[in-house]
Amino acid sequence: MPTITDTPTPCYGQHDLFDSPDLQDHLAAKAICDTCPLIESCALELAATIAASHNGGRPEGTWAGQHLVSGRVRRSDRRVPSRVAQDDAKYTDAEAKYAYSVYRTGRTDEWARVGSRVWAARLTRAQRAERANLKNQEKAA
Ligand code: SF4
Repeated sequence: MPTITDTPTPCYGQHDLFDSPDLQDHLAAKAICDTCPLIESCALELAATIAASHNGGRPEGTWAGQHLVSGRVRRSDRRVPSRVAQDDAKYTDAEAKYAYSVYRTGRTDEWARVGSRVWAARLTRAQRAERANLKNQEKAA
């Protein structure tokens, strides 16, 4: 399960479901991920976690809609990062920001839902970059 901070996640507190290796649990968790505006950032965090975990602490269960078994994404689920990149390319900043705002006010068609995810991910990346910049400035001072 991801550890995205600063933003409440739809999976928050649902360890039984999201940490379960069971396929039926995965499908139920994946349905939640599929409507989650944080799925892009979550997929990026997953990739970073897998890269850092080859010596232990292997993630299990469902993460960004992907099924993890012994720290590896099941082959059938590996499409998510490329889908994320394709979705990102469909929206300008203005379009994604607009989709995010209308999704928040109840418009739930695919354009609004996907655009909302894209904008949420861009915000998260921008915030992370800003925090990293601040840390670097503090170190340099
Ligand atoms: S994409 Fe899924 S695992 Fe990631 S934060 Fe959203 S609900 Fe949680």
